[in-house]
Amino acid sequence: MDSQTIARNIERVKATIADACRRSGRRPEDVRLIAVTKYVGIDTTRAVLDLGIEHIGENRVQEAVPKYDKLGSRGTWHFIGHLQSNKVKNVLGRFTYIHSLDRHSLAKEIQKRAAKRAMTVNCLLQVNVSGEKSKFGLAPSELVEFAKEVAEMSNIRIVGLMTMAPFVDNPEEVRPVFRELRSLRDQLYRLELPQVGKLELSMGMSNDYTVAIEEGATMVRLGSVLVGRES
Ligand SMILES: *Cc1c(COP(=O)(O)O)cnc(C)c1O
Repeated sequence: MDSQTIARNIERVKATIADACRRSGRRPEDVRLIAVTKYVGIDTTRAVLDLGIEHIGENRVQEAVPKYDKLGSRGTWHFIGHLQSNKVKNVLGRFTYIHSLDRHSLAKEIQKRAAKRAMTVNCLLQVNVSGEKSKFGLAPSELVEFAKEVAEMSNIRIVGLMTMAPFVDNPEEVRPVFRELRSLRDQLYRLELPQVGKLELSMGMSNDYTVAIEEGATMVRLGSVLVGRES
């Protein structure tokens, strides 16, 4: 996709975000736009950065690392995909956020590696709100216990919750999924866990982000609506 088309897409998406904010009494600056570049190559990813997009999302370590190693001096990089423990070492030091912390073994590995490098890793806990078998994430009923465990790990900072809604034709159908994630976030606030401050809500993709924003999303992860698909 050429740069002009991407520029138009960005404008359109920003206007749509602003509309959704207006409808729900929110401020557009409270919604961060993460451009998901997993469907496109390095040139398009560079074009996205050139157009002033600050946040880049990638979901596969193998493809993301070469991109990061060329472009990573620019932007803030978000790891949004399922993360295998043996790939943690490639993600730390590159990605500022991991959106997919969803199990104890992964938390342990992140903690161990982060401690060795004397760094703190920003993690969002991924919740499988809809319960779809094909999706990763904690069951909502597991979240509190898991958050308490992770809050004890001194090199991990819990910065939010992430979910992926089922793909549906009418995004109104998944509004309850987003509402539930927000309610889980509020539940975590009430626990007043040590080292847990403001909690982001990473929810909303190309087909459902307006509904996610109306329900409180502070990070939307948009791929195809911004950059199309190259493969
Ligand atoms: C691919 C992906 C997205 C973006 O998908 P689009 O529907 O193209 O916007 C967002 N989040 C995650 C976790 C993804 O894997």
